[in-house]
Formats: sequence, C-alpha cells, structure tokens
Amino acid sequence: MGIESDKTAGPDARVHAALAVDTIYGPVPSRRYGNTLGINLLPLDHKRCSLRCTYCQLGPEGRDTVPFPSVERFAAELRGALELLRDHGDFRGYPLHGLVLSGNGDATLHPQVAEAIDVLLHLRDELAPNVPTILLTAGTELIHPHIRSAVARLDEVAVKIDGGSQQLFERLNMPFQPILLRDIAAAAAELPNAIVQTLLVQGSVDNTVAAEVDAWLELVRLAHPRRVDLYALDRAPIEKKLRKVPGIVAEAIAQRVRDEAGIACRVFSDGLND
Ligand code: SF4
Repeated sequence: MGIESDKTAGPDARVHAALAVDTIYGPVPSRRYGNTLGINLLPLDHKRCSLRCTYCQLGPEGRDTVPFPSVERFAAELRGALELLRDHGDFRGYPLHGLVLSGNGDATLHPQVAEAIDVLLHLRDELAPNVPTILLTAGTELIHPHIRSAVARLDEVAVKIDGGSQQLFERLNMPFQPILLRDIAAAAAELPNAIVQTLLVQGSVDNTVAAEVDAWLELVRLAHPRRVDLYALDRAPIEKKLRKVPGIVAEAIAQRVRDEAGIACRVFSDGLND
C-alpha cells in the first residue's frame, strides 16, 4: 500500500507527505493501475496496518487512539469526487482508471469495512460505472471469512506476498500479530478476484535468492491468483540497507511464474508510484 510521496523531500518530510489527510486523495499516478483515485479508510494523517514492512513509505505506526473516519464521511467525500468526475469527464484534469483502497495502511482494518465497500460499489455503479475498484492489502485480515466476503465484491484484491519463507516474511514485513504467510496465501485462494503483489528487494533482506523464490512460487501456486505483479523500489526506501532489484532479475522471476505456475505476471521496475 502507500501513496505518492514527495520525491524531492528528506526522509521525515517524505513520510509526512505520504500520509493521506483525507478519505479521498489524488489523482495518484500508479505504475500498475494508471491514474487512480486514492481511498483512505484509515485514520487521517496516521498509519494503521497489520504489518510493519521495512520499506514502508508511511513510516512507523500511528497512535491507535486516532479514530477511523466514519462511513458517512467517506460516503460524502467519495460522492463529491465522483460527481466531479461525472460532471467534468475527468478528476482534477486527469481521467481515472481505478478507485483504489490504499491510503494510510490496510483498509480491511476499518471496523465497518463491509459497509464502506457497499458505499464504494453503490457510488461507483451510480457515478463511474466503468472505473474498476481495487484493494491493496497486507492480506492478514483475509483469514476472516467476513472480510473475504466483503472484498470479494471488488474488481480486484491485490494481496501482498513478498516472502517465500516464514522467516523472511517476519524480517521484511514484520507482522504485529503472529500469522503464517501460508495462511494468507490460502485465504487469497478463496477469493475470485485476488492477484498477488510482490515487492522485490535486495540488500539486508533479499527475496530474490533461489531458495526464497522457490518457496514464494509454491505460495503463489497455493494462492492461485489471476495474476502476479512484481515491482521494485522506485525511490530510496526508509530502510537504507535495502537495494532496488535490477529489472533483469525481476524479469527472470516473472518468467518462472509464467513457465512454472502458468500464471500471468507483470513487472514494474521503473517509473511512478505503485
Ligand atoms: S503493508 Fe507494508 S507497505 Fe503497506 S502500508 Fe502496511 S506496512 Fe506499509
């Protein structure tokens, strides 16, 4: 997850700039989805996620006393944005290619995420019927059937599976609560609309070595997604000991996904935001 950052600012300013201060933001130029409307169901200007990825542009977790925005507020702000889109044919001068639940962490942590998705789908159908709805998720909450039922109604659910081994998952993604990466992959397999999203990194943690890629491919097979999206860091990570993976390495891994798992795979190693 994460949103467009100020690439010219220093690390602290970059974290602050990356946090959404509203429920709706953008348009966000995304490498994977084009120009998107960002939807933030997390506390405003505070991160809330089930993971603590070492590369996260949003910085450390915010205080857990900051409330989630209400579904009513989200509905009003989304309606305003989509009415602009309907009336002008674009959003702030840009065509929109996706409505993306991302923002300050993982939207599935919102206590009324099912109601918020009801609102999103209703307003999308009424005001922007051709624009797909996408969730970027850490995947941990997908182990709960009621969360899977809610997100299965979206057009696409991009589930983060960076690691192959449980050990690498815990070092790179650092879940707050104990959870097996295999259980996330198995939960993704229950969805009709899941894709796998994987950030490739080298350096202090490396998920491109053969043993990790072998284990990761097994999880990808288990998750049985429609597609796999591989991407590399596109800016200096918060964790300085991580390095960007060369495009040729990412492409070799993508070819293994296509050849060995028979699953479509895209690579994003340069350009704009995720
Ligand atoms: S899943 Fe990782 S990268 Fe995304 S918001 Fe959570 S901690 Fe940050």
